[in-house]
Amino acid sequence: MHKAVNDCVIIGGGASGLFAACYLKYLDPYCDICIVEKMPRVGKKLLLTGSGRCNISNARISAKDYHTDDEDKLSAVLKSFDVNETVQFYENNLGIVLTRKGDLYYPLTLRSATVLDSLRFYIEERGVEFILEDPAVRVASSVSGYLVQLKSGSTVSSSNILIATGGRSYPKTGSEGDAIELANKFLKSEDIIPYAPALVPLTSDKPGIKNLAGIRFNGSISIISDDHEHARSEGEILFAKDGGLTGIAVLDVSDTVLRLLDKGDKPYASLNLIGKSSGDVLMMLYIRRQLFPNRTVCDAFSGIIHRVLLEGVLRDCNIDPRAKVSSINDAGLTKISNVLCGWSISLSGAKGFEDAQVSSGGIKLGCLTDNMEYKGSRGLYFAGEAVNVNGICGGYNLQWAWSSAVCAARGILDV
Ligand SMILES: Cc1cc2nc3c(=O)[nH]c(=O)nc-3n(C[C@H](O)[C@H](O)[C@H](O)COP(=O)(O)OP(=O)(O)OC[C@H]3O[C@@H](n4cnc5c(N)ncnc54)[C@H](O)[C@@H]3O)c2cc1C
Repeated sequence: MHKAVNDCVIIGGGASGLFAACYLKYLDPYCDICIVEKMPRVGKKLLLTGSGRCNISNARISAKDYHTDDEDKLSAVLKSFDVNETVQFYENNLGIVLTRKGDLYYPLTLRSATVLDSLRFYIEERGVEFILEDPAVRVASSVSGYLVQLKSGSTVSSSNILIATGGRSYPKTGSEGDAIELANKFLKSEDIIPYAPALVPLTSDKPGIKNLAGIRFNGSISIISDDHEHARSEGEILFAKDGGLTGIAVLDVSDTVLRLLDKGDKPYASLNLIGKSSGDVLMMLYIRRQLFPNRTVCDAFSGIIHRVLLEGVLRDCNIDPRAKVSSINDAGLTKISNVLCGWSISLSGAKGFEDAQVSSGGIKLGCLTDNMEYKGSRGLYFAGEAVNVNGICGGYNLQWAWSSAVCAARGILDV
């Protein structure tokens, strides 16, 4: 039996929706809340985060590391419930012990299920109603505020609505970009940016790239277009199975690549395969030529880099991998070191929503108040990835989910 009129209906039981419910109950234990979730269980995507370990936040959160239409508002929302408050809330109210690996926060158990359980237990114990496996299909205004129509035909009434349906990435987890359709009746078309994949593996049509599948290295990637570096990231890079690039460093620059391709530019990736300067690498090559004069080029340098990668580099330098290393003159070594530190990989595009960790686009942040309420409709709130905010890898996107959820909760209770 549903409550006649709830104080808040939260559409979407993902990271932001569950956290908003917790915070609403924390601020007001008597608040009547109903969570409507499309899937049979809440938090399906949350369980996948951080490779099952849930990287919940980052000590270096800054609005500059996100893409959005309103950086000032983003900064205000992130500051109004920051990393320290997030950590304290998890530890003091939800009972989770967190651990830090560098700047990244994880639950001490290194299990995302610990995070999901802590949220679920907190709101279940406080009597939040769940409607599962019944997607919201329409939101309409009513005398008491809003009426949410569900796929089953039933309806739920509420004074406030929080749309926390996520973006469109990993649609199999239930996030299919429903926010725009659900709130369509209330939104102005200029307040919506269509969702697009972000933090997504890049595809390449470079000949022979499929032969590199499965090879990973620690280096850096620069995105170049019109002789200008548009983005750069360091860390693990992996050659993907079906030809292309993935790994955290690649995901972090993928948004820039998509934006350049959209503009009609032809960006390419320049990979530093060793993560060192070309001067240092040249010195490594000199030393090995001197140490192993009778080896082939490939054998002499195989202690520096994966030999399959080296063969690809040598091919691009027009140097036979089976030539004796002593036959390569200084100009040849310089050419090799330059390519090892800036190997050009043409980029043809990126994978789709199925492989994207987050999506860009959604409801523009600029059309929401600092409390995540839509400026044109009192009582209509948004949080999380449904909004046009997407960050780099490393806990940034979940921190956005937590901070935006708290701001919405404060707005709903007017505190
Ligand atoms: C593989 C993977 C790993 C990730 N790892 C990290 C990480 O370690 N750190 C990090 O910061 N970020 C990570 N992210 C990103 C992060 O998970 C998301 O940014 C975050 O979950 C977004 O939270 P949300 O509440 O906005 O949406 P979601 O968590 O996507 O939740 C939305 C919920 O709404 C429900 N829903 C949708 N439409 C309807 C409807 N019409 N009616 C009812 N319910 C509906 C969905 O079923 C879903 O449960 C990762 C993402 C992926 C895919």
